[in-house]
Amino acid sequence: MYRTHTCGELRLSDKGKNVTLAGWVQRIRDKGKMIWIDIRDRYGITQLIFEQGKTDENILNTAKSFGREYVIQVTGKVIERYSKNPELPTGEIEIFVTELKILSKSEVPPFTIEDNTDGGEELRYKYRYLDLRRPELQRNMALRYRVAKEVRNYFDKHGFFEIETPYLIKSTPEGARDFIVPSRLHPGSFYALPQSPQTFKQLLMIAGYDRYFQIVKCFRDEDFRADRQPEFTQIDCEMAFVEQEDVLNMFEGMMKHLLKKVMNVEIDKFPRLTYDYAMEKYGSDKPDIRFEMLINDLTDLIKGKGFKVFDDSEYIGGIVVKNQAGVSRKVLDKFTNFVKQPQIGAKGLVYAKYNKDGTIKSSIDKFYTNNDWKAVFEQMEDKPQPDDLVLILSGNKQETLVQLGKLRLHVAEYFEMIDHSKFAPLWVVNFPLFEWDDEDQRFVAMHHPFTSPVPEDIELFDTDPGKMRANAYDMVLNGVEVGGGSIRIHDAEVQKKMFRALNLSEDEIEEKFGFIINAFRYGAPPHGGIAFGLDRIVALFAGTNSIRDVIAFPKNNAGRDIMLDSPSPVSPEQLKELHLEIKKPKN
Ligand code: ASP
Repeated sequence: MYRTHTCGELRLSDKGKNVTLAGWVQRIRDKGKMIWIDIRDRYGITQLIFEQGKTDENILNTAKSFGREYVIQVTGKVIERYSKNPELPTGEIEIFVTELKILSKSEVPPFTIEDNTDGGEELRYKYRYLDLRRPELQRNMALRYRVAKEVRNYFDKHGFFEIETPYLIKSTPEGARDFIVPSRLHPGSFYALPQSPQTFKQLLMIAGYDRYFQIVKCFRDEDFRADRQPEFTQIDCEMAFVEQEDVLNMFEGMMKHLLKKVMNVEIDKFPRLTYDYAMEKYGSDKPDIRFEMLINDLTDLIKGKGFKVFDDSEYIGGIVVKNQAGVSRKVLDKFTNFVKQPQIGAKGLVYAKYNKDGTIKSSIDKFYTNNDWKAVFEQMEDKPQPDDLVLILSGNKQETLVQLGKLRLHVAEYFEMIDHSKFAPLWVVNFPLFEWDDEDQRFVAMHHPFTSPVPEDIELFDTDPGKMRANAYDMVLNGVEVGGGSIRIHDAEVQKKMFRALNLSEDEIEEKFGFIINAFRYGAPPHGGIAFGLDRIVALFAGTNSIRDVIAFPKNNAGRDIMLDSPSPVSPEQLKELHLEIKKPKN
């Protein structure tokens, strides 16, 4: 038997017992006459004690030879500690060691295995198995497991089946690029890895499995952006014989269940915001509602005083920052620089400080008097009070709203207005069906091409597709989109119309999507569903900004696995077998 107990288990009530532990050497304190060693496993840390004169000489010498991360097995007696450590669950006892064995030696680890490690990210990814020994990552892995388990508990209670769908499929574009896999046995042909099991779950509905879910890997070959992984995990779900309301209720229930069981947080009914409202008031389709500071439309209130920037703008919007009129010039410059960065793209920022004495100091005093400002403030929805700061952006409406949305988040972070212990979930509903792609000069599906329009809008396919509304919804938690889904098209003709609106030729429709359009001809029930990002949910629960912290073996920001050194070239023989030739990019 390697161990009688784990390293997190022993308490004062175990005093006097003879026990055997196995684990890694965390820390060695050699005081000459006395040596203390902390032994660690994933359950905790226990202190071992060796004492000259009392401990066997051989054992003492072996203990002195240990290095960090050696794997050892010790047998000894549980004794009461002289100086107790209240931070540690095992902090009242230690083990007086009577037998000792090295199970495995370790080289000096490249970074410290502690919550506050000295290892940089790349180094930690290269030695991820050491990184995973750190308590923080152990807690994250445990949390991830609990979330997945509670997802399964919830769906089990509601009669869902977890059904696996294939990973080697056919390229069926859903917005991103596919990863493709060459076939050895079919020269010149390729499988694709699924961007999501979208079409399969719909086929399962047609097959009659009316409540399906799957915790499943999805693959998207997208350009690198901070905190994107080429492979990630979805909680993929679908139901038949449902309307939007049924879907929202079922999956609101799931999130409430997770928050309750995993985080011990109870949430009332989730607010529902329309897409238009979210954009107009939060400048985002994933609003963070943990704080107020909504966007005010000033377009009709503020023009006409000779300030050309405003007078020429399609839209002018402002946010009211409570009690910050006293803010320094330096901070206002910071906010200005923030909105002017290329990623945000505003031309400038106008501010008005409503001083406590009732006067108003603004960056455009030349054009606006105190009374002009007061007249504007008076008509605003979120009426500024003395001591408030008003920040204003102007320009093209869509762009300015998005800029204001980003400024709103930035300012809230800056003034610490966000309660980070809070969970604020909501639904965004009534999305547009299409988005206009300026580059390709065509419509693209805002969600994906299987999303149903709201029935009243079906006629607009031929006349005004840009106006069509989708039967789609997103779940947002603390400003992060954690899930998205829709009621699906289940009629072959409507599905064809959809593909035509996306500029696909009849041949392309047949070649790429013939299988699902065909399936719609054999009794397709009305259906709809949603998919959640498991990595994002766990990251939010863990309180980390990066999904990489909740994935055991993540890729880095450039999509590389540093430990495996992947992606990497394959041998000429492998290429030959796959009937492939590599054209080296010219540089
Ligand atoms: N397949 C969709 C996605 O991955 C989710 C859904 O519509 O259920 O975004």
